[in-house]
Amino acid sequence: MKISKRVQAVSESITLKLNAKAVQMSEEGKKVFNLTAGQLPFRPMGELINSLRSELDFLKSFQYSPVAGDAALRTKILDYFQKSRGVNFEENNLDFNCVVSNGGKHAIINVLQSIIDPGDEVVVIAPYWVSYPEMVNYCEGKIKVVQTSLFDAFVPSIEEIRETITDKTKAIIVNSPNNPTGTHYSKEWMTNFATLMKEFPHVNIISDEIYYELFYYDPKPTYFYQECPELLNRTIIIDGISKNLACTGLRVGWTIAPKELTVAIGKLQGQTTSGANSLVQKALCNFDFENISEYLSPIKSHLRDNANIIRESFREGNLAKSWYQSHSAFYYMVDFSQAPIIDKFRKNKDDSTDYSMEICAELLDNEGIALVPGKAFGLANTARISLVLQKEPFEEAISKLVNYLVQEKS
Ligand code: PLP
Repeated sequence: MKISKRVQAVSESITLKLNAKAVQMSEEGKKVFNLTAGQLPFRPMGELINSLRSELDFLKSFQYSPVAGDAALRTKILDYFQKSRGVNFEENNLDFNCVVSNGGKHAIINVLQSIIDPGDEVVVIAPYWVSYPEMVNYCEGKIKVVQTSLFDAFVPSIEEIRETITDKTKAIIVNSPNNPTGTHYSKEWMTNFATLMKEFPHVNIISDEIYYELFYYDPKPTYFYQECPELLNRTIIIDGISKNLACTGLRVGWTIAPKELTVAIGKLQGQTTSGANSLVQKALCNFDFENISEYLSPIKSHLRDNANIIRESFREGNLAKSWYQSHSAFYYMVDFSQAPIIDKFRKNKDDSTDYSMEICAELLDNEGIALVPGKAFGLANTARISLVLQKEPFEEAISKLVNYLVQEKS
């Protein structure tokens, strides 16, 4: 069968391949530290589980939901968004709405399909979430990358963003808290970004806030539109229950955006996937979003502990140049290029080849540590560490990782 060019161009997920190898090694009885997880391995809130159970008694939970989502849930999402972010649509004369989709990923592809015409440019900040470029390419848009690095703690330069924007720029994607860096941008950065965006009224801003509640060091994440509510007119917010409520498998996420766009997304969703999971939407209607922070409190403390393990282990291993302070989501980017191990791979001092795949393959084969290579995120010679593993195995894994990183070329 001949597969369409569009789908042929989609890359296979690097994470999935590595995960498969890690699982196979465990099945063979080898000790594997799987640090690739993109989800919290904890039981969701009891209140949500109970709500799901009680909604099982109703026929409506098994039938189609309205295409754009259960009306009561959409109101609740819009209310919670305004309250938690401290913005008010009515006061700012904003006609906003919400579409509930099958996860945040589905919400993002809906948005991109609804706003991108062939050749339109979309600015992304590297390291980026793996799916952004793939989705933009799928929509026949063009990715424009703004690079960041460990030296600036992965904070993108406003000047570089300015230089990347052209007449063809349709949107910029901002993901704070960030996957894969595990950081969120400061209030000052958001203010500068808001000022920049005012210069470019043709650019839409996709604010991927799927990790909003997951910060383990203050201050909490803030956004450009809090400084400058008029930017909301062209802001599209992505959120959902996958990360903040540890419910990746329930597949519910949403888009909050100006009504013009939510109507377009509703049309697209109506002809492609229909409304999202009715049972979960009903259960969420009875669920108090205000409880999320209480649920996340012990989880945040766990993530903080694991982030501290990285700090201490890197300090002991004299890897200060490879270290930065993470404070949100549940990831950390390790930079191989700042550690002795890179000399084992580089052919000479000027060799700038990306060896992240080779290094991660060796880490898995020799040390039983599975990480996601930086290649997947558009940042050479790095890898993503997931912080969710239990403290003891995490400590053991990081200690093995540090021993590997400090290896001198023999
Ligand atoms: N956005 C980012 C930055 C993510 O990391 C993810 C999931 O890994 C998503 C969106 C999509 O989340 P969902 O599982 O709800 O589709």
